[in-house]
Amino acid sequence: MIDLRSDTVTTPSEEMRAAMADADVGDDVYGEDPTLNELEARAAERLGMEAALFVPSGTMGNQIAARVHTDRGQEAVVDVQSHVYKWELAGFAQHAELQVRTFDAHRGVPAPEQVEAALLEEDLHRPGTGLLCLENTHNSRGGLAIPPSELGDAAAVARNAGVPVHLDGARLFNAAVALDEPASAFAAHVDSVMFCLSKGLGAPVGSMLVGSEDFISEARRVRKLFGGGMRQAGVLGAAGLYALENVDRLATDHEHAQLLAAGLDDVSGVTVEQPETNIVVADVTGTGMTEDEFADACSDAGVQCSGFGDGRVRLCTHLDVTREDVDDAVDVVADVVD
Ligand SMILES: *Cc1c(COP(=O)(O)O)cnc(C)c1O
Repeated sequence: MIDLRSDTVTTPSEEMRAAMADADVGDDVYGEDPTLNELEARAAERLGMEAALFVPSGTMGNQIAARVHTDRGQEAVVDVQSHVYKWELAGFAQHAELQVRTFDAHRGVPAPEQVEAALLEEDLHRPGTGLLCLENTHNSRGGLAIPPSELGDAAAVARNAGVPVHLDGARLFNAAVALDEPASAFAAHVDSVMFCLSKGLGAPVGSMLVGSEDFISEARRVRKLFGGGMRQAGVLGAAGLYALENVDRLATDHEHAQLLAAGLDDVSGVTVEQPETNIVVADVTGTGMTEDEFADACSDAGVQCSGFGDGRVRLCTHLDVTREDVDDAVDVVADVVD
């Protein structure tokens, strides 16, 4: 089976498992896990920010950020296609008591005028805006890699109005590798960043939340509140450190995505937009199948992909997908469509 449903399906390599087995550990709730302390220091350094916090999932990282940045009853401004809006169970409402205001922007980044129009100043009748949340790479818009300057133009409007900006950078390193920019170039424009160790970077568990010393010390309290305070989590931290040292490997996933997209686009009835990172979105309406029928037929033939709405499927390249897998997957899809 060639599993292209998501880049979350990777399993830790032998080298990563060895690093985990060798990890020095301590009680992280007491701040005594040396491996996690090292991972947090490296993550902060990598993003050019003051401090970082290891969290069990990307979702928890985003939710903690929303909770720390805002006050009860404020608004959070987010893209209508963002992960925080679509896939986190209305967590901003549940965990931070926020009302969400959406914008719809071509590449998921609002134009400065859109940010301007979305910001509310608090008065007797209206909540104030407490947060602008951006996403990079943009998952639901097809793994788009947003350049730092575009993020910066949107973020500046919010920050000039005193509204903090959080970046959901679950796949930030995919953007960094694709655009050949250091991760710090993106972080420079925002107040906090979440990135996942567990996707293309291949760690089994974990994400990092990064920001100022003050933000992270409050985030540490909220992580405890949300049940995310872990004890000897350095075994996971060691996998994260290994992942962070091997960020450059994402370039291979991006090359594979290009090949996959080109191959699939040659299959009649399938249309694929040029991918920018490791996510390939294929419109299969021309095959006469619904996206679910298409995904089921491919799965029966040995290739898994996921439904993506509007007659489209998503295929992700990742650590456990080889060049041969890509060629085979294209052949399988061609057969299925035939
Ligand atoms: C996967 C993902 C998350 C959440 O990460 P989990 O570790 O699955 O909770 C958040 N944002 C984006 C854009 C994602 O793709």
